[in-house]
Amino acid sequence: MPGDGAKARAIKEADLDIAIIGAGFSGMYMLHLARDVLHLNARVFEAADGVGGTWYWNRYPGARCDSESWYYSYSFSSELEQEWVWSSRYPAQPEILKYLNHVADRFELRSDMQFNTRIINADFDDHDNTWTLAAESGEQVTTRFVVAATGCLSSRNTPDFKGLDGFDGDWYHTGAWPHEGVDFTGKRVGLIGTGSTGIQATPVIAAEADHLTIFQRTPNFSIPARNAPLSTEEAAEIKANYAEIRAKCKSSDNGFPFEVTERLAKDFSAEERDAIFTELWDLGGFRLLASSFADLTIDESSNESASDFVRAKIRGMVNDPDVAEMLLPTDHPYGTKRPPIDTDYYDAYNRDDVTLVDVRRAPIVEITKTGLRTEDGEYELDALVFATGFDAMTGALLNMNVTGSGGRKLGDAWEAGPRTYLGLQIAGFPNLFTVTGPGSPSVLTNMPVAIEQHVEWIADCIEYLQNNGLTRIEAKDDAQEAWVDHVREVADTTLFPKANSWYVGANVPGKSRVFMPYVGGLTLYREKCNEVAANQYEGFAVSN
Ligand code: NAP
Repeated sequence: MPGDGAKARAIKEADLDIAIIGAGFSGMYMLHLARDVLHLNARVFEAADGVGGTWYWNRYPGARCDSESWYYSYSFSSELEQEWVWSSRYPAQPEILKYLNHVADRFELRSDMQFNTRIINADFDDHDNTWTLAAESGEQVTTRFVVAATGCLSSRNTPDFKGLDGFDGDWYHTGAWPHEGVDFTGKRVGLIGTGSTGIQATPVIAAEADHLTIFQRTPNFSIPARNAPLSTEEAAEIKANYAEIRAKCKSSDNGFPFEVTERLAKDFSAEERDAIFTELWDLGGFRLLASSFADLTIDESSNESASDFVRAKIRGMVNDPDVAEMLLPTDHPYGTKRPPIDTDYYDAYNRDDVTLVDVRRAPIVEITKTGLRTEDGEYELDALVFATGFDAMTGALLNMNVTGSGGRKLGDAWEAGPRTYLGLQIAGFPNLFTVTGPGSPSVLTNMPVAIEQHVEWIADCIEYLQNNGLTRIEAKDDAQEAWVDHVREVADTTLFPKANSWYVGANVPGKSRVFMPYVGGLTLYREKCNEVAANQYEGFAVSN
């Protein structure tokens, strides 16, 4: 009505329909769908000076994908998968970054990407139903929708060790590795952390440095990758079977095209179990976890048989029995921390120029001018590498200083741990979508599969809103609470919460202990998301 319009503040047109934060796997595909399929005015904001997300930042020695190349890739374009040539089973970081750059070029994404732009503030305006994003540079932009494609492992965790500022040598975090590389020749290098990253970096740095000292707090169960080049015949066979490979990934619980097993460890003798584990160990990678027994992450005795198997393998690979003993994981069931995949990790401990230090028994006290001091010794070092991981799943979102409807701060809403509806939205934060957010299968899957599912769901949702003249969508509190309860209940039926992993935030001092990913599997999850959409976005409040 004209009278009302005169009194009320006019609705402001937003600068953008959709702002996408992050130019990794998620942000790139989101831009493609938003701009080229939905024809929205879309722009990506990216802190780095190029695309790639995790593969842009993690350039440390030995960085390589733990999933096989032919399914750790986009499935949305059959032309893309047919034309791209992977060199090996597990491609190294530069090759994945090259692939993502190729995708950016092929789909002409760069023209709608703004690099060197870190978003440090996001404020929702209830009147206009728009977000205002502010960049570090001071630039501001308004947008109707925000998609946080900020990655699950992008906010670095650097422990606050006393004395680091006074260290005379150079130090690096693996998640922000210098682009020009680092030459460790002739150097005494210290490496803190034995997660997937430290395990990949160890043999490569060991081969280059004068001496490598590894400071280990928790030993890990690592499985050999068995990387190898892909022959022309293998590559051709993969390409010929892509439809089947992708279908397997999409219909599996973890996004991998592995054979799914129904067998339970208790139904097999110790010898039979050993034969099954051996066959999968020889194949390498995640198969031991994914295809050995269906109850591996549910049943303690089933898990113990796998844990014992891997521990025996470690003993067999490390010559010095004392070092082998230090490398044996005993504090968590196999697979309840993200299992590393390696190339010659345990072999590295057979070198004379590699030393393992147990910093659980004698913790790190400080970084000195010339090295590192633990409770029972001093280590002279020229360089220090922090392979200490990330403030996973929540760090990047919280760092953006998000303020939602009615001035509600994300930091307050998540004080006791992340709460989301389907890992896609947060009650009180309308029109903000998260890709592979906490509460979704995300990090328990082959990521590109989970990412494509989320991005497609978000695109369909925005299309629905457009078609129905709706401008606002917001997760309802009760739907969110029910989902958070379900995520916790499912996790509690498994062995996962037993481990002090980054899945529960245990690696970041002071972080609330909540099992963040959804362990119920991609299949159920996909069905639930589809059902919600089919029921006019059940559990969401939609309005104009
Ligand atoms: P991470 O798994 O969190 O491992 C960090 C390591 O640093 C752990 O050994 C941890 O010990 C140690 N640490 C942390 N704070 C410490 C402290 N104050 N003192 C001593 N040690 C400390 O991190 P990440 O290895 O970077 O891997 C993170 C995730 O990234 C992986 O789980 C995986 O999902 C992903 N990733 C993927 C690939 C791939 O596919 N190519 C490669 C690398 C990483 P505790 O265990 O005791 O906490």
